[in-house]
Amino acid sequence: MKGLIFDIKRYSINDGPGIRTTVFFKGCPLNCLWCHNPESRLHEIEHVRRVRNLGENSFEVEEEIGRWYTIPEVIRELEKDSLFYEESGGGITFSGGEPLVQAGFVTVLASECQKRGWNTALDTCGYASRKSLQQVEPYTDLYLYDLKGMNNTDHMMHTGVDNSLILDNLLYLLQQGRRVIFRFPVIPGMNDSENNLLDLMHFLVNIKTSHREIHLLPYHNIQKSKYERLGINYKLNDLQAVAPESLKMIKAGLESIGYTVKTGG
Ligand code: SF4
Repeated sequence: MKGLIFDIKRYSINDGPGIRTTVFFKGCPLNCLWCHNPESRLHEIEHVRRVRNLGENSFEVEEEIGRWYTIPEVIRELEKDSLFYEESGGGITFSGGEPLVQAGFVTVLASECQKRGWNTALDTCGYASRKSLQQVEPYTDLYLYDLKGMNNTDHMMHTGVDNSLILDNLLYLLQQGRRVIFRFPVIPGMNDSENNLLDLMHFLVNIKTSHREIHLLPYHNIQKSKYERLGINYKLNDLQAVAPESLKMIKAGLESIGYTVKTGG
């Protein structure tokens, strides 16, 4: 059994509690306009050309994005920081792309992590079959669940998919008593209007969960160069970063309905 992974990032402090190692899976069913990991979208190995400088000379090298790993190969990488997981209250985060695209591999990997006493978190966009979600569920300690917008028409326009499956899956997980931290990417002009924010707050205030925590992920455009390298047209070239006052206002609104709000992952 092999999984297609494009990065394994050590000492991550933005992908769940404590110090974590994040495994980035390749393949995603969404096509978010602002995607900060465009190299994650295709479920296949990609090749890009990159310019390297050596002294006064520069030369082009071909870089491969993505590699097929076996479970023991990933575990060997994760073991390198196992001391930190326990001491910091951290663990392993499965991210992407969308890890549930490779639900079979993630299930086995997550169960191997739990056997070693490592906390497991699934960073998901929620757009997956119920079968995939349930397959990984027994081996997932925490969900980092994206809410990209409550308005379905906007959601479709900005991500390429309907949000009803995402919301259904979320409600299912909450009904099962699963621990979920919400993640809201704040994208100026796309999901930060007053109406969108009121809809989001209305949804969040009415759900049944004992853990009210949300992370705001403010838009930035440092991913632009990745699009250039991949030869993908970046459609948000002119979009500016989120204004600090807007973030403050969104944070205050969410805190007023009883949520702990963190800015960043
Ligand atoms: S869900 Fe995440 S990885 Fe997938 S396209 Fe959207 S931002 Fe990119």
